[in-house]
Amino acid sequence: MSLREIVLWPDDRLSQMCTPVGEITEDVRGLAQDMLDTMYAAPGRGLAAPQVGVLARLFVMDPSWKEGTPAPVVCINPNLVWHSDATVVSSEGCLSLPGVTADVPRAETVRMVWTDLDGVVQEAELTGFAALCAQHEIDHLDGLMTLDRLADADRDRLLAAYEAAR
Ligand code: ZN
Repeated sequence: MSLREIVLWPDDRLSQMCTPVGEITEDVRGLAQDMLDTMYAAPGRGLAAPQVGVLARLFVMDPSWKEGTPAPVVCINPNLVWHSDATVVSSEGCLSLPGVTADVPRAETVRMVWTDLDGVVQEAELTGFAALCAQHEIDHLDGLMTLDRLADADRDRLLAAYEAAR
């Protein structure tokens, strides 16, 4: 088990567009395993590569492990190919913004295509917390934080609370 340091806002690496993962090498497998270990230890339900300082399009998630059996998912080069018009607003935490949450509107249901660690392309329809989690993590791969999805006044309020909590 190998834990990696979680990058905290306002580190520049959280604002970068990440580059696609090419061949799935031992380095990529090691990164994914370290990210899962780091996510479970945090404890969190999702973690994107830039949050451990690697600017690659890869995230890990396990939306409901706190309620049941762990079911880790490693998503390489994920894309949302469809989303519902229906949205939901929920209070989202982020391991890179500890101590605060943001009310972010997200699509209620999404269809995601990604490559798994065996190089197999997967597709799934996600709803509920898994859908929110996937959208949150893909945002990280595009250099977007929850606070980037807020109106200016809400963003200022969240950052003030974050600074106060540090
Ligand atoms: Zn996050």
